[in-house]
Amino acid sequence: MESRTSELIDELAHNHTLDLEGYEHLVTHQDDEAAQRLADLASAVRKDVYGTDVFVRGLIEISSICKNDCLYCGLRSSNASCERYRLTPEQILLCADMGYELGFRTFVLQGGEDMWFSDERLCAIVASIRERHPDCAITLSMGERSRESYARLRQAGADRYLLRHETADPEHYALLHPAAMSFDNRMRCLHDLRELGYAVGVGMMVGSPYQTPRHLAEDLAFIDRFKPEMCGIGPFIPHHATPFADRPAGTLEQTCYLLSIIRLIHPTVLLPATTALGTIDPLGREKGVLAGANVVMPNLSPVDVRQKYLLYDGKICMGDEAAECRRCLDLRMERIGYHVVVDRGDPRP
Ligand code: SAH
Repeated sequence: MESRTSELIDELAHNHTLDLEGYEHLVTHQDDEAAQRLADLASAVRKDVYGTDVFVRGLIEISSICKNDCLYCGLRSSNASCERYRLTPEQILLCADMGYELGFRTFVLQGGEDMWFSDERLCAIVASIRERHPDCAITLSMGERSRESYARLRQAGADRYLLRHETADPEHYALLHPAAMSFDNRMRCLHDLRELGYAVGVGMMVGSPYQTPRHLAEDLAFIDRFKPEMCGIGPFIPHHATPFADRPAGTLEQTCYLLSIIRLIHPTVLLPATTALGTIDPLGREKGVLAGANVVMPNLSPVDVRQKYLLYDGKICMGDEAAECRRCLDLRMERIGYHVVVDRGDPRP
């Protein structure tokens, strides 16, 4: 490892921050030795804060209908070959009930930007989950909405919101999204969510088309500034029916390298080892946890809709019932010396 890289790693571990040039240097000077050093430091920090606990979030994919046309996503509105579905409120509540029995204490409702989920309908669903499972956290991941809408959902009982920033560079953002979407509105949403008292999750894809080391450095500087409670990062994986079908996927190595850096920037952040990471490598989620991640998000969606919620090709766990997914992850974590816990896994101050 080059000496400047080694100095920067020590500085990051000590101060929990670098300047933009420092982040860019780390991104461009990734090698096995630097990755191992960062993973060791990140694991130590993670163990100081969270021990060997791994938090689980039950992911309920409530709709594959989307009005947006993000260039990377298989659910984009112009993908005519995507089979669309929408869970009924009753189905969503059943998923949560089953998840509760399996030991989940956080539910994540995620979906495309499906206009059927008006504030009224979504608030009613959130309120029902809140009433049936008062000891659980409710996370929404339903895309960009108005401040008013976020306020009503918060009032109805939602605690957390995941909205990846996707890239902290406005020009890069414009290359990944249709003209109707804007970087400024994304940022407006994130700031509104924070002001309304949500625990907020940001994040980006690693290896997305047109991404440069400078962009990743900007992502790290953004995470450093915004200090999100949660940060979801996973490799970009091409979907066959999108304009990025022929683009290469992001790598396991770069994703783990960035997970370690993010853990060091923000020791208490809730950092998932994502399904996308488990998709590009059979041991991806284990490797993510060993690099500093502390959250996994198994799927609670009904098995018959799983293959219709295809953001990218090759998604794992499509046929497994929720109970199997849960058991499988318990075992995977035990094998590497970590333990899935029955806990809301709230953000630490
Ligand atoms: N509509 C919601 C949920 C989007 S899906 C929202 O806008 O937040 C959740 C995340 O999956 C996205 O934020 C994106 O970062 C990721 N994703 C989408 N397509 C992907 C792909 N092809 N490869 C990897 N991740 C992808």
